[in-house]
Amino acid sequence: MTDRYAVLGNPVAHSKSPAIHAAFAAQTGQKLRYERIEAPLAGFIETVADFFAMGGAGCNVTVPFKEEAFRFANLLTERAEQAGAVNTLWLDDEGVTGDNTDGVGLVRDLRRHLALAGRRVLLLGAGGAARGAIGALLAERPAALVVANRSADKAALLAERFAALGPIRGCGYEDLAGEPFDLVVNATSASLAGAALPLPASLWRPETVAYDMMYGRGLTPFLEQARAGGAGPLLDGLGMLVEQAAEAFFLWRGARPDTAPVLADLRAGL
Ligand code: NDP
Repeated sequence: MTDRYAVLGNPVAHSKSPAIHAAFAAQTGQKLRYERIEAPLAGFIETVADFFAMGGAGCNVTVPFKEEAFRFANLLTERAEQAGAVNTLWLDDEGVTGDNTDGVGLVRDLRRHLALAGRRVLLLGAGGAARGAIGALLAERPAALVVANRSADKAALLAERFAALGPIRGCGYEDLAGEPFDLVVNATSASLAGAALPLPASLWRPETVAYDMMYGRGLTPFLEQARAGGAGPLLDGLGMLVEQAAEAFFLWRGARPDTAPVLADLRAGL
C-alpha cells in the first residue's frame, strides 16, 4: 500500500507542501501520497487522530495548529521541546513523535548566503516561528542573537528560556537604536498585513542580509523596508519552506532530496 502523508492547517488550500513532497518523491524514486487536510479550527486533535487511525504515516502541521500538535505528540524531539511547537509528526511502534523542522530549515537556507558563526543576528518577532528558529540559530554560534518584538516582554521571556544555549537578549524595537546587525530575520506576521515595523535606520548597513520568513512574488513589505534602509542581500522564506520540508521528508523516508531544483521550480511558479 502507498504510504499516506498530509499537511494539516486552516486555511491550507494555498499550501505548497504537496507539490514539494511530490517533487522530492519523484526525485528519490519513492512511492507516497501527500494531500492537504483542512482541520476545523476547534477540531485539530480529532482530525489528526483520525488521520493516523486511518493509516496515515506522517503529516506536517501548519498555522494555527503547531502548539496543539506539540500537545498531541506522544514523544517529542529535543528541538520540538525547545520550540514548544511541532510542524512534523510521524507514527511508529512507540506512538506519534513530534519534531520541529522550521529552525533547521531556516538555517540551511541561510547557509546558502552567509556563515552565521561570529555574526550579530537580529530576530524580529516572538511567536511560534521565532521560537522554532532560536535553537537552530544559536547552534550556529553567532556573536549575539537579539530577539526584538512589538510586545517586548515576550521577547525577554524567550531570551530567558534559551539563555543556556548561547548569547541571547530580548527587547522592544525602540531598544535597537545604534546597533548594526549582519543579519536581520523577520519572523513576525506584520508583512502579511502589509504593516511596516518601527525599526531604527541604524540597523542597516550595505552588507546586512535581510531575511523575511514570508514569501511571495516580488519583495515583501519588510524587504522593501530593508531595501529603503540600505540593506544588502534581500531574501524571502521560500527556501526555508523547501528546507523544512526536506528535513521532514528525511525523517519520514530516510532519503535526503536535492532541494535546489525544487526551490528553483517553486520560485519560477510564484
Ligand atoms: P505568530 O502569530 O505566532 O506570531 C506573530 C508575531 O508577529 C508576534 O511576534 C507578533 O507580535 C508579531 N506581529 C504581528 N503583527 C504585527 C505588527 N503589525 N507589527 C509588529 N509585530 C507584529 O505567527 P508565526 O510566528 O507562526 O508566523 C510568523 C511569520 O512567519 C508568518 O508570516 C508565517 O507565514 C512565517 N513562517 C514562514 C515559514 C516558512 O517556512 N517560510 C515557517 C513558519 C512561519 P506580538 O507578540 O507583539 O503580538
